[in-house]
This record gives sequence, structure tokens and C-alpha cells, in this order.
Amino acid sequence: MSNNPLSFAITPHAEPVAADERASRLQDPGFGRLFTDHMATIRYSEGKGWHDARIEARADLKLNPSTLVLHYAQEIFEGLKAYRLPDGSATLFRPDANARRFRNSAARLAMAQLPEELFIESVEQLVRIDREWIPSAEGASLYLRPFMISTEVALGTKPSTDYLYCVIASPVGAYFKSGAGAVTIWVSDNYTRAAPGGTGDAKCGGNYAASLLAQAEGQKQGCEQVVFLDAVERRWIEELGGMNVFFVFADGTLQTPPLTGTILPGITRDSLITLARGLGLTVREEPYSIDQWQADAQSGKLTEAFACGTAAVVTPIGEVKGRKHGFKMGEGQAGPVTQRLKTALLDIQRGRSADTHNWLRKVK
Ligand SMILES: *Cc1c(COP(=O)(O)O)cnc(C)c1O
Repeated sequence: MSNNPLSFAITPHAEPVAADERASRLQDPGFGRLFTDHMATIRYSEGKGWHDARIEARADLKLNPSTLVLHYAQEIFEGLKAYRLPDGSATLFRPDANARRFRNSAARLAMAQLPEELFIESVEQLVRIDREWIPSAEGASLYLRPFMISTEVALGTKPSTDYLYCVIASPVGAYFKSGAGAVTIWVSDNYTRAAPGGTGDAKCGGNYAASLLAQAEGQKQGCEQVVFLDAVERRWIEELGGMNVFFVFADGTLQTPPLTGTILPGITRDSLITLARGLGLTVREEPYSIDQWQADAQSGKLTEAFACGTAAVVTPIGEVKGRKHGFKMGEGQAGPVTQRLKTALLDIQRGRSADTHNWLRKVK
């Protein structure tokens, strides 16, 4: 592999979306339906290492039908957001943490590990060229989706020799149709998301494929999300399909399931633990069972619960349904502790309060 830092070949889109058309699309972006003009790509092959870094017009990928990813799902991804600050500049939230997690996910899926600097640079280059696509409304941002697939053309069950890393960007508004309102979640007691020794703590598409049937079942029951229980005892709360979960008690303390290998280590989760402790709140990383959650919600010992992740930010949980469970919390919107933490996080991300943890990275 060459020791020279990889530089990106930048080819701007020949016919980018016109400014007035872009403005009209940005009015109501929804979530993940609208995409910017460009994409970033970097290729890897054994022997050659990382090469061919590009910023160019977003276009279809051409894949041979024998490409490994299409058969054995060697795929990982990330999700982070770029925000427009009051001074008009663009900023990323903790991209170094995403870069690190992307390397960990790659290691678990036996894939090539992208150097952290290249991950961050690819994201910055894409934000820079597509910066006019960052919506400025409160609650809106530019969602960045780095991902990597195995591209060797072969059917052998072995780690690929070749990879394509790509970043696309999508202007987004609120993740849930309910906006900032509380969601109802479904307890999946038959399907599990991750088992000890599996890939639960890697951000790979396969985990999502495995969760979709439970998600569809929950939707049939009128629930927006599913909460998964541990695969061994089927009683400990792990996380939602794509979000971590926190519990707030009447005594003002918080609890969230510990990272034992079957849960995705959320950057939002980590940030909220830091912020909560900074506000003087006690946060326990300890197991919590579904039966205890129901008992505590009914007795009043537990007062709030919320889901968190880059896409959903902080979303209150108002009701839990399942074959053996059913209970409510709160009044349909965020309780005081949930709201306080959400505001603390958003104020940092939006540049309204001091970035004391050095989490923001300005895109110059
Ligand atoms: C991405 C993800 C999360 C949230 O992680 P953040 O870094 O906070 O966005 C939680 N659970 C799963 C399964 C995820 O894929």
C-alpha cells in the first residue's frame, strides 16, 4: 500500500438539481426519500489497499450478479448528521466516533478496515460539495450514510478480497410521523435481533434484515417500533430495531442496558450518558427486564422512557404492547427529564450551547 495520503478526484455533477427545485424539495424532506447530487466512493483490493477515492455525481452502482455481497451480505454502514449552524457553516457531530465504530463493524464482518481519517475526509468532502442541501429548519439536517460492500466476483464463502466504500447524503426531517410525540412499541417475544457471539454490536445490514419481520408484526399491532429482548432468557431489554433505550425513574435516576456485545453501542446513547452525568443525574448501565418495566410503570416508580439514535434523536415511548404486556407512560409527549436531555443534546448539535466535549467538527 502506498504511504501517500489518498486524495479525492472531484468531478462535480454536470447537471445538478437547480436551486429553486432544490429549495422546493427541501420544504418537506421526510426521512431517507430525498438524496443530494453527489456521492463519495473509495475502493479497496487486496495487495493494492485503499485507492480510487472520488467525489462524483450520485449514480447507480453496476454489480456483477456473482458479487459476494449479493449472496452473503458482507455489508456494514454508518449514520451521522451534518447540521447548519446559526452562522451558516456546516458541522458534523462526533464523526470520529462513527469512523471508529465503522472500523469495529468491518473487523467483525471480516472486511477491510477504512482508516479513520479517510472516513472523516470522505464525509467532509461530500458535505462540502453538497452543502446547499443541508436544510436549516429546526429538526432538519443532512443525514449521511457511509456504507461498504464486498465486491469480489465469486461464490466462495470467504471474506472478499475487494470492497467498495460509498457515502450518500439525504436531507431529512423528523424520523417518526409523530414528530416529537411519543411512540408505541411492540415487545417481540418470539423473534430476537442478536445473540451472544453474533453481530449485534456491529452496524451491519444483516441485523436489520433479521429484525424486519418483528417490525412488520409490530406495525400490524399499531406500533412504530419493536423492542427486542435478550436471546438467552428472553426477558432482558436490549434495544429497539435501530435505537437504544433509556428508562427514567421517579427518583430522578436513569438506566440503560449495558453494552454486553448484543447491543449496538450508540453514539447518541454515549452522548446522553455523558450529558446526563454532567447535569448531576445518576445513570446506571444495568440490565432491566420487561416484567420489571411493566411493574415499575404501573407502580409509578418509572416515569419516563425514551428511544435514542442519530435518526430518531430522542423519542419518548408512550406505550408498550405485546402478547403478554401492555402499559403506558407519560402524557403522549416527552417527560421533563427526556426533554431536558433532548434539549441539551440539540443545543450542542445546533451550536446554541458551548461544545464543552469537543463533539462538533466544522466542515471548512
Ligand atoms: C445505529 C443504531 C443505533 C443508534 O446509534 P447512534 O450512533 O446513536 O445513531 C442503535 N441501535 C442500532 C441497532 C443501530 O443500528
